[in-house]
Amino acid sequence: MSKPKIAIAWNSSCGGCDESIVDIEVKILDIAPKVEFVLWPCAMDFKYDDVEKLQDHEITVSLINGGIQNTHQKKIVELLRKKSQIIIAFGSCACMGGVPSLANLKNMDEIFNSSFIDAPSVVNPEKIMPQTEYINNNIKLTLPEIFKTLYKLDDIIDTDYYLPGCPPTASMILGALELILSGDLPPKNTIIAPNKALCASCDRNKSKPENIAIKEIKRIHEIIADPDTCFLAQGVLCIGPATRDGCDYPCIKGNMPCTGCLGPVQDADQGAKMIGTLGGILDGDTKESVEKILDGIADPAGTFYRYCVSDSLLGKERKEEM
Ligand code: SF4
Ligand code: SF4
Repeated sequence: MSKPKIAIAWNSSCGGCDESIVDIEVKILDIAPKVEFVLWPCAMDFKYDDVEKLQDHEITVSLINGGIQNTHQKKIVELLRKKSQIIIAFGSCACMGGVPSLANLKNMDEIFNSSFIDAPSVVNPEKIMPQTEYINNNIKLTLPEIFKTLYKLDDIIDTDYYLPGCPPTASMILGALELILSGDLPPKNTIIAPNKALCASCDRNKSKPENIAIKEIKRIHEIIADPDTCFLAQGVLCIGPATRDGCDYPCIKGNMPCTGCLGPVQDADQGAKMIGTLGGILDGDTKESVEKILDGIADPAGTFYRYCVSDSLLGKERKEEM
């Protein structure tokens, strides 16, 4: 019997999701003999032409990371949809846009100027911008066309399952692969992580006082954080109340607050949920005193919507504005 075929593809992403697969370490040796990789550009030398030659639905499962922001990425994910039985949006960029989707809050001129002219590390006195076509010695070179918006995977293709995380942890990936390869498939559209907030599992939850009252928001580098006390009780923003459980909270174990990378629990808007939580615990009795506390949040959009602009109320509002 032929082995299940697996494809792993990346789009607009940092490579961390691929790195997390490597983090499975020796346990990947349990899986590797049972499957056949047919695409993994980060780690193996396959050609897209080889994928074109496969029969439709011949790939058992494709894990696709990164958001979709250009014509090449769109073409590849459409090809994988045609050739795959199961598509998993792998990592928070594919599920919700991830960190790159924060760029959806800017227009294209701002993004190109920032990347190719204004960045402190760029030297570009002639203000040359990338072009989709360039002819040199009668040879035409082309680049894919960039989209104005970074799309999450299910904006472009039908997606079967979602594995959030920035990146998903090695144990989440192993669990998802074992689940899919067992053949005992969960219902379509399942997000493969518990549908409860991170605080429910966090060890520090029991240290939360009955009433938290934040008089001043501090950033983690401004204090020496107590390693056992809830970050919110220490005045440090922790997005755990608005974030899906499932990561085994490595950040909090490392004495860093959760930044929300698994995204919200089912059907919630992560930023709105966290803002609602904060509304109940800020200790100001006048508009001015509350505004003074809020001034401690250096980057509200990047704090409350860091991983999910493409799948958020904020992202939808901004898309309509542009
Ligand atoms: S707010 Fe953060 S530190 Fe506090 S219980 Fe929730 S996840 Fe843990
Ligand atoms: S603690 Fe929060 S930021 Fe850290 S891995 Fe878990 S969900 Fe992501």
